[in-house]
This record gives sequence, structure tokens and C-alpha cells, in this order.
Amino acid sequence: VLRADELWKSFGERDVLRGVSVSLAAHEVVALIGSSGSGKSTLLRCLGLLEPIDDGRIWLGDLDISDPRVDGNRVRARLGAVFQSYNLFPHLSVLDNVTLASRVVHRMPRARAEERAHDLLARVGLAEFAAAHPDRLSGGQQQRAAIVRAIATDPEVLLLDEITSALDPELVGEVLELVRALAAEGTTILMATHEMAFARDVADRVVFLDDGVIVEEGTAASVFAAPQHPRTQAFLSRFS
Ligand code: ATP
Ligand code: MG
Repeated sequence: VLRADELWKSFGERDVLRGVSVSLAAHEVVALIGSSGSGKSTLLRCLGLLEPIDDGRIWLGDLDISDPRVDGNRVRARLGAVFQSYNLFPHLSVLDNVTLASRVVHRMPRARAEERAHDLLARVGLAEFAAAHPDRLSGGQQQRAAIVRAIATDPEVLLLDEITSALDPELVGEVLELVRALAAEGTTILMATHEMAFARDVADRVVFLDDGVIVEEGTAASVFAAPQHPRTQAFLSRFS
């Protein structure tokens, strides 16, 4: 469903992505791992058309979304993204956060969008917070609401960037459980994460990014059990 060929991205003098190629099959869950500064967030932002690339191509289905002539808003409407911190719109209720894209971008009637939003919020244990503003929710509840907002439009791919790293440890579990459930339902997910145990459990495939280059990728089982590249070995040794 999503494929990137030879992506290059620099900020000033610094090459942050240096020829990154990555692809996601339908229903696949891929974990993107690597040290801080290796380029994981930049890659996710480029794939989500939240950041322009310098070179390379990105395909969503059979559409070249890196073509400057494509309508970025229409492409972004086919993707769901959740990031570490800047998440819900603080001035909108949880319900309005969740239904905004459905109503405005997908022109879904309000009643239908809200019915679906209530179902999804109930599913993640947030039914009673629909009318509340985000600042009334805990960090874990806010991230669950942000995930609900991202999936409310049935995106073809869900891009998740370190969605638990700003959370207190006791709140991490509830957010990971939601991702695990979405993965089990067949949602196509690319997630940058520092939660190695979770990546090993949930991801089908692991991609290791090192200084803007993918130096190793493979099934989660093989990469975690027997990393081949010295950089991957050094990185993973810190977690065991
Ligand atoms: P982390 O694990 O800490 O989230 P990361 O792998 O997500 O790290 P990126 O955030 O993609 O890494 O950053 C890669 C490099 O690009 C870093 O050196 C960072 O300083 C630089 N960078 C990222 N965004 C920008 C920006 N908007 N302007 C300038 N430099 C940037
Ligand atoms: Mg990052």
C-alpha cells in the first residue's frame, strides 16, 4: 500500500535521510527502530507528506504522492498519523477532535460522524469524555483519543511516531494495548518506537535506521533474535 524509493532529505547541511527505501504491504505492521537522531520521525513525516522530500518517490497504492502536482490534502486524508506530543486540538471537545476530518475533509454528515466517533471512543474506554476538552484527560487517554481521531477516517496506513514516549510509565500499557488491537484487526501500521518488547511482539517486520540509512530489516523474530549488522547489534544490546 505504501512504498518509498530512495528518499533523500536534508536540513541545511545535514543529510537526515540518505536513500531510504521502505514498503508496507496491506495489513502489515512494521516497526521503525534506531537511535535518537537516526531519522525515524523525519521519515514518517516525509511519508505522511508533512515534510517535503529532496529526492526519491513515494507511492500510496498506485499514486505517486511525491509528485508535486498531487493534492497533498487529499493524500493526507487517506493516511492517519499520531505523534509523540502535539496531538489533539485543545480548543475542541474530544468528539469534535475525532469527527473533524470526517466532517470537513470527507464531508460525512455530522450525525454519522458522531455516531462512529461515539462507537470508537466507547471501544477505547473514553465514552464519558466525548464532550470534554483534551486537558481534562490523562496523557494516556489523550493518546487513545488521538489514535481514535487518526482511525476515524479509515486510513489506508497508520503512521505512529513514538506515541508512548511522552507518557508516564503506568499509562504506556493502555496505549500499546490499543495499537495491539488495531494490528490484530489488520490495520496497516508503520510505527517508530523505542518499546522493543512491544515491537518484537506486535510487528511483523522491523526496519533499523542508522544515521539516515536502513542498515538492516527483517522479520521481527529474526532481527531481535539474531541481528546481523554490527550497528543493529550494538543498538539492540542496550535493551537486553
Ligand atoms: P528520536 O528517536 O529522538 O525521535 P529520530 O530518529 O526521530 O530521533 P529525527 O527527529 O528524524 O530523528 O531527526 C533526525 C535529524 O534531523 C536530527 O539530527 C535532527 O536534529 C534533524 N532535524 C529533524 N527535524 C529538523 C528540522 N525541522 N530542522 C532541522 N533539523 C531537523
Ligand atoms: Mg523521533
